[in-house]
Amino acid sequence: MPYGHQWIDQEDVRAVVKILRSEWLTQGPLVEEFENAVAKYCGARYALAVSSGTAALHVAYFAAGIQKGDEVIMSPLTFAATANTAVFLGAKPVFADIKEDTLNIDPAEAEKRITKKTKVIMAVDFAGRPCEYKELSRIARKHKLVLMADAAHSLGATYKGKKVGQLADITTLSFHPVKAITTGEGGMVLTNNRKFAEKARRFRNHGIERKPGKRGWYYEIAEPGLNYRITDIQCALGLSQLKKLNGFLRRRRELARQYRGLLKGVKGLILPTVAREAQSAWHLYPVQIAKGAARRKEVFDKLRQQGIGVQVHYMPLHLHPFYKRKFGYKRGDFPNAERYYDRALSIPLFPAMTNLQQKHVVQALINLL
Ligand SMILES: *Cc1c(COP(=O)(O)O)cnc(C)c1O
Repeated sequence: MPYGHQWIDQEDVRAVVKILRSEWLTQGPLVEEFENAVAKYCGARYALAVSSGTAALHVAYFAAGIQKGDEVIMSPLTFAATANTAVFLGAKPVFADIKEDTLNIDPAEAEKRITKKTKVIMAVDFAGRPCEYKELSRIARKHKLVLMADAAHSLGATYKGKKVGQLADITTLSFHPVKAITTGEGGMVLTNNRKFAEKARRFRNHGIERKPGKRGWYYEIAEPGLNYRITDIQCALGLSQLKKLNGFLRRRRELARQYRGLLKGVKGLILPTVAREAQSAWHLYPVQIAKGAARRKEVFDKLRQQGIGVQVHYMPLHLHPFYKRKFGYKRGDFPNAERYYDRALSIPLFPAMTNLQQKHVVQALINLL
């Protein structure tokens, strides 16, 4: 049993096969159709599908104007791509600690780290729970910063009644198989800002700009981009998956509620808190082993031995050799993220998981504790 898994059915298979027999394999009509459908679902004006969530982050930072010497404030509790892509544009990731209850960036910690070089606050919706966007927007506006959201975990989540995708100036999604919906590999950039959308669109396609009135072969490169295009094959799968998203979310939320009921009061176990102002997409169910790293390792190993695919999300980025060496981070810099990491254990949660499988996980965990 994995910690997360895609759901692919006959309808998905038929949708992909149909495209394989059509004229277009890439850059056809389904890319725009998928973009429009996700934009509508999330309530964003512009959507740009790309080849991965990592590509979406790279494109989004580029569109936000990130350059050499800029600083991007973010939580250290995220997947490496959130910081790596900013580093590729020459920026410094400035980490700000998480709150223990939300596991998301602490807005007050973020504000403290703003300097003249800060350009972006990057909000990562850890485990599917939206960050405190009201506070973060206020800080971003006050200091004239771009607010970005890495919503790889939180497609379909809502905050104060609004869907993720309209809560930040630019939002990125991932369609990797463990995420809410999949295109195999894939990602998307969402924004309401036309300038950001145009910059992102050029970057996805080598920086190519076609000039109205010029001949068909003519184009200009105003600034270089990359090939971050997605295929029609992938978008056919994405469109088919999107129809099932609300059902997937319902089941994830139901499993999370059941986990809470079944694990409440188990000694030595800390459960994720439930947001009042937000509805999480429950990408992960991150519990904590209260006794810390040694005990967590033991529980992790024993559950893996029993075929239960637990995982640890994530080793905080400031503890990776590159980020220590290059930017001088060290253990002790972000105590909340470190304490969480020492105790963290993501237990299986995916839409196809049965109640019987869930009871099996719960029983194994209770036996060990
Ligand atoms: C999955 C993920 C990404 C990267 O997405 P890919 O599609 O795998 O490139 C970025 N950030 C976070 C938080 C993720 O979970």
